[in-house]
Amino acid sequence: MTEKQNKSGKSDFDAIIVGAGFAGMYMLHRLRGLGLSVRVIEAGEGVGGTWYWNRYPGARCDIESLEYQYGFSDEIQRDWTWTERYAAQPEILRYQNYVADRLDLRRDISFSTRVIAAQHDAASGLWTVETDQGGTYETRFFIMATGCLSAARVPDFKGINDFEGEWYHTGGWPHEGVDFTGKRVAVIGTGSSGIQSIPLIAEQASQLTVFQRTANFTLPAGNRPLTPEEIAETKARLLEQRQHARQTPGGIICFEYNEKLAEEMTPEEREKELRTRWMQGGFAFLGAYGDLTATHEANAYAADFARDQMRCAVESPQLAEKLLPNDHPVGVKRLCLDTNYLETFNLPHVELVDVREAPIEKITAKGVLSGGREYEVDAIVFATGFDAMTGAILSVDIRGRHGISLREKWVAGPRTYLGLGSAGFPNLFFITGPGSPSVLSNMIVSIEQHVDWIADCLAKLTSGNIRSIEATQEAEDSWVAHVNEVAAETLYPQANSWYMGANIPGKPQVFMPYPGGVGVYGQKLDEVAASDYEGFRLDA
Ligand code: FAD
Ligand code: NAP
Repeated sequence: MTEKQNKSGKSDFDAIIVGAGFAGMYMLHRLRGLGLSVRVIEAGEGVGGTWYWNRYPGARCDIESLEYQYGFSDEIQRDWTWTERYAAQPEILRYQNYVADRLDLRRDISFSTRVIAAQHDAASGLWTVETDQGGTYETRFFIMATGCLSAARVPDFKGINDFEGEWYHTGGWPHEGVDFTGKRVAVIGTGSSGIQSIPLIAEQASQLTVFQRTANFTLPAGNRPLTPEEIAETKARLLEQRQHARQTPGGIICFEYNEKLAEEMTPEEREKELRTRWMQGGFAFLGAYGDLTATHEANAYAADFARDQMRCAVESPQLAEKLLPNDHPVGVKRLCLDTNYLETFNLPHVELVDVREAPIEKITAKGVLSGGREYEVDAIVFATGFDAMTGAILSVDIRGRHGISLREKWVAGPRTYLGLGSAGFPNLFFITGPGSPSVLSNMIVSIEQHVDWIADCLAKLTSGNIRSIEATQEAEDSWVAHVNEVAAETLYPQANSWYMGANIPGKPQVFMPYPGGVGVYGQKLDEVAASDYEGFRLDA
């Protein structure tokens, strides 16, 4: 243990990090490198975060494996070999455990422990952090690496406790797996998790009923084994590739964004571009032209193209129309990548229930009551998503200067400077917090960008004997306004997405991530650091 005892007998650290996913693991490694005493507190029993919790059938990344890995260490990447274009959850979790072994991370992590509260003390300048295991720790720096998609949410359906079968949430899947063989199963939700799991659940279930509220744009992932040449090329150049990725809008380099606007292309050119990218699989489709998510006219070409492709996969024309998204532009909710999702609805034992026509009234002892009909099932899978971006942060009762509560401060939506800190909360950092590109990017690139910035900042503070850093109110206000302005220039706010908080009844409808792109955002981070942290107040 790197902890030391302070006068009051409480454990004392330079930094406490909450969460041991990709973000918390790398943050620990960087802060150890600075010689700081650090403790990570993690609710799960192991490292991995997203990939520890989301063990549902079909779970895999949608950013290509060769890019969805750490890029900070040449040895680590050279000694690991990915097998598939989009790695499945077990492989990603094995990779995270391999990194934890290589860096000997576990000795500084308290597992099976949840942080429930944190209070800043102005006199000592320390945070007191409280856990559900009765532990109370004092720390100078308090870092939330709690994840944007870690607060799984089961909707408040009436009667859920009456259900006599088994139910599961994709974001908290049993470690031993679930055998649906011969069972009648309901899946509620058709976002990425539903779309990935439905084809595999259908392979086992005797009857599968899918409850869809919003049809989503989905395209074939084109998953396949990686070739030895692809693997060798990345091993030889990953660090260099990562530098490049940091300059791009999405933190990925496996495709180029076409900068031409839709109207600058002939209909044939547009069609060719869309088709090539659709066939390529993955997010390349959204880079077909520069204004795809900026104007309705430009978006409509891509949305129509996508619907035409999707329609071809479904045998029944009536069913196809139900599965086609018609209420939002393509790309403004997370695009889904699938393997045989739409084709699954051609199977005789798979049924689609459109929840907009037949709302779910309640869960009964025997199943789901929807549109006046009771669907009797043995198991229910909630693929109903997360209280995204703010859920995990606000589940901790965080109180800053003068006891100000973060929950109260964010009651109308999250307010941060750069997604890294919030005025009134000295020495509190968020990794990929609201107001940063985070979920609109390859998250590992964004995580590394934040971790590196925070580590460099703490190095400067400690070497300069600066006690605290805190976002100023002015900088925060102007950043929040900037994020809103950039979002308003896009079609993003026009969909009922979790980016907007629209999936949680009563949650403020604010566009939470920064849509300006990883590269532009990175320049801003560099400028702030180079200017001795303009927009932050430093106190000696
Ligand atoms: P997480 O991995 O979410 O880790 C946060 C950790 O904090 C969790 O282990 C949690 O238990 C812990 N924690 C939270 N609150 C507390 C508390 N109060 N006390 C103690 N511990 C706490 N992104 C991509 O870029 N590409 C992808 O392909 C991709 N696929 C995804 C697939 C799924 C199924 C999901 C849900 C998300 C996916 N994401 C993807 C986003 C993914 O969350 C990030 O890529 C990345 O794994 C986030 O890492 P993290 O460390 O920031 O957060
Ligand atoms: P999600 O995208 O929020 O999807 C949740 C689904 O549940 C939606 O279809 C939603 O409908 C539905 N739903 C929610 N509440 C409901 C209710 N009360 N009644 C009926 N339906 C309800 O969640 P997710 O699929 O878990 O994905 C979340 C994010 O995690 C993704 O967007 C992605 O960023 C990441 N992810 C990535 C992958 C991957 O491919 N690598 C896989 C899984 C997750 P509405 O759309 O109408 O709200």
